[in-house]
Amino acid sequence: MRRFWAIALSCVLLLLSGCGAAAPEELTLFAMDTYMTLTACGDGAKDALEEAAQRINALEQLFSRTREDSDVSRLNRQGSASLHPETAELLALSLSCAEATGGAFDVTVAPLVSLWNVTGDTPRVPAREEIDALMPLVGVEHLHLDGTSASLDEGCAVDLGGIAKGYASDQVAAIFAARGIRSGAVSLGGNVYVCGTRPDGTPWRVAVQDPQGAGYACILSLQDTFAVTSGAYQRNFTAPDGTVYHHILDPATGAPAQSDLLSVTVLGASGSVADAYSTALFVMGQRQAEAFWRAQGGFSLVLITADGRVRCTPDLSEQLTLSEDTSYVLEVISP
Ligand code: ADP
Ligand code: MG
Repeated sequence: MRRFWAIALSCVLLLLSGCGAAAPEELTLFAMDTYMTLTACGDGAKDALEEAAQRINALEQLFSRTREDSDVSRLNRQGSASLHPETAELLALSLSCAEATGGAFDVTVAPLVSLWNVTGDTPRVPAREEIDALMPLVGVEHLHLDGTSASLDEGCAVDLGGIAKGYASDQVAAIFAARGIRSGAVSLGGNVYVCGTRPDGTPWRVAVQDPQGAGYACILSLQDTFAVTSGAYQRNFTAPDGTVYHHILDPATGAPAQSDLLSVTVLGASGSVADAYSTALFVMGQRQAEAFWRAQGGFSLVLITADGRVRCTPDLSEQLTLSEDTSYVLEVISP
């Protein structure tokens, strides 16, 4: 049952409006524990979408923690493994994102993900001692990568849940490019990629979901970019005492991040990096996330704060429209 909520809760909604004269090709699939919708226009669109879906399924086969025969499961179970080049590539990228974000994004958080089991069938609030017992296992120094060979220190594990869908969106973009698709839009459970413009030359419209309601908070006019949202409202569970626990863990505390943000949308030229950064910046909270953007550059941001503000980077101010019936206040982040 839990799975069927995923689409209703996916945080970036694409507002699609056809492919001009020709009907758009559309394909939906359930993969990586979420619903995915893919749309492409023009010659070869159907074949491109089919190849993209096959690709996504193949990547899930490599990166899944729930499939016992995946690369990630083999590595976690055996402690060392020879990996498919794409798994090795994504682990290498995960390490560099961990370094860039000061460990706010860290795939070695896996033992804690299992302990809390927020997205599993039996989530629970662990005792502090249980968390403390696992904290020494978290940290990228425990993952050793040498080409396509990987090993983990005793008891450690990796979880690519915070970056795998972004990587998949990069691969879809590559397939679109190779097949000459000039107009398309995909949403892999809130990991959005828009290719070119709509066929009439106007930008795609991507809605950022209101983390506190059923509608959306704002709409972005976008072309040729990745847009990824992370938020606490997507996947969570309510403990017997009424406290809500979500699935983004702070590697520094071992518990769901206590963020002053409700959602983080990162836009940029890499789906993988946007995915990792959206998770990391949620952990960081508003002040640190904005400082990270100033220091790092190369991407754009839409932050929705717990006190009702939508804060975007200056480059987005012309492209962002608040929803008409929203109480959010729009602010531009100072450079
Ligand atoms: P979603 O997968 O729902 O789009 P995210 O991209 O933010 O959301 O990824 C959250 C997932 O990433 C969690 O379900 C867990 O598997 C993993 N994860 C949780 N906290 C972290 C973290 N601090 N760093 C890296 N991965 C994390
Ligand atoms: Mg992420």
